[in-house]
Amino acid sequence: MSGKLDEFRNLIRQVILGVAPINEKLKYRAIAILIAFVHFTYVLLFGFCKIEIMFQYNIGAVIYYFLMAILLGRKELQKTVFLTVLAEILLHSSLATIMLGFDWGFMLYTISLVPLIFYMCFTLSGTRMRLRIAIPLSVIVFIVYYVTLVVSNNIDPIYIDPVYSFVPRAVYYYNTILAFAYCFVISILFSIEVKYMKVTLENENLSLEQDAKYDPLTKLYNRRSFNEYLRNAVEAAEKGERDVSLIMLDIDDFKRVNDTYGHNQGDIVLKEVANVLRDNVREDDVICRWGGEEMLILLEVSEDTASRVAERIRKDVENLDMLCDGVHIKVTLTLGVAEYESGLSLREYIEVVDKRLYYGKEHGKNMVVNS
Ligand code: GH3
Ligand code: MG
Ligand code: MG
Repeated sequence: MSGKLDEFRNLIRQVILGVAPINEKLKYRAIAILIAFVHFTYVLLFGFCKIEIMFQYNIGAVIYYFLMAILLGRKELQKTVFLTVLAEILLHSSLATIMLGFDWGFMLYTISLVPLIFYMCFTLSGTRMRLRIAIPLSVIVFIVYYVTLVVSNNIDPIYIDPVYSFVPRAVYYYNTILAFAYCFVISILFSIEVKYMKVTLENENLSLEQDAKYDPLTKLYNRRSFNEYLRNAVEAAEKGERDVSLIMLDIDDFKRVNDTYGHNQGDIVLKEVANVLRDNVREDDVICRWGGEEMLILLEVSEDTASRVAERIRKDVENLDMLCDGVHIKVTLTLGVAEYESGLSLREYIEVVDKRLYYGKEHGKNMVVNS
């Protein structure tokens, strides 16, 4: 029992923080039951005051809202239900005001329909042209309010009770509290839902940003984001602030791996090689999938140190026995290493390391070339 309660508390906290959505079905059902309850209090009131029409109307309204609480489970009916609820509240407020007089406070509900309209138009799923619906509906509400005001000022109320003269005032207090509570609940719901939308959007942006930065297969940086790091590193090297070296590597005879074991196995090999690179560099070194089976590593070290790292990687990959779906696969790498030399453009610098890599390819592969 306490576990369930904790779970519920946790859910409420997540909803308030904007990390979990409000359960729509539950929300609309709770609202319908609350309105049914309010109408039930009017059944008692009008029964007490012996105002037959309003008494019967409110019995009908209680039944109607209970039915709505059941129907609101169905998404396709939510819009229709919203419009009928709107019409019902308008009708009830105006009818009660014309029959009893403006001083009972029933028109307060009409005013609080405006935030409800905007809330519903912006949160009901599948609602398009939100402002183009919310504004005309609000104007209708305003017109109904004004017409009721004028009419009720020009005709005598039907119900004038000389005995219980405190009743209109008491009902006015009651209606004021309810209309405020009503605006308050809608505003809270609106804020919570806006917060949820904001948090969701931020998370989506973050994951899009991540997607734009990384290669989906190896989770290494992609070419675009790597260029950014390289540009900054080269700028720092130009100022003499640090050493910058590049290792460019390419898997030897990778086409044969694909041809022999299939493309999926080839993908696994790429991921395994990427892991070896990650294991051999420091946190702030930048590894990138430059092309198909070609990778680049940016290190803030001298050429000697970078060559030692390259040699370590070469050996680790050579000794790597990859078991992919029951088959043992072995691959080797050829690596070019070059330290940045002042005056080189990014393209020229990459060409230097690329040339060294291809020198290795032409001279037996599975080697490190650094001059
Ligand atoms: P070399 O030793 O000269 O580098 O020979 P190679 O066979 O590795 O080079 P080549 O450029 O002829 O072939 C590269 C192969 O890499 C061809 C291509 O199908 C494969 N490849 C590129 N990207 C991927 C990928 O994402 N997954 C898989 N499985 N293979 C890829
Ligand atoms: Mg290759
Ligand atoms: Mg290649």
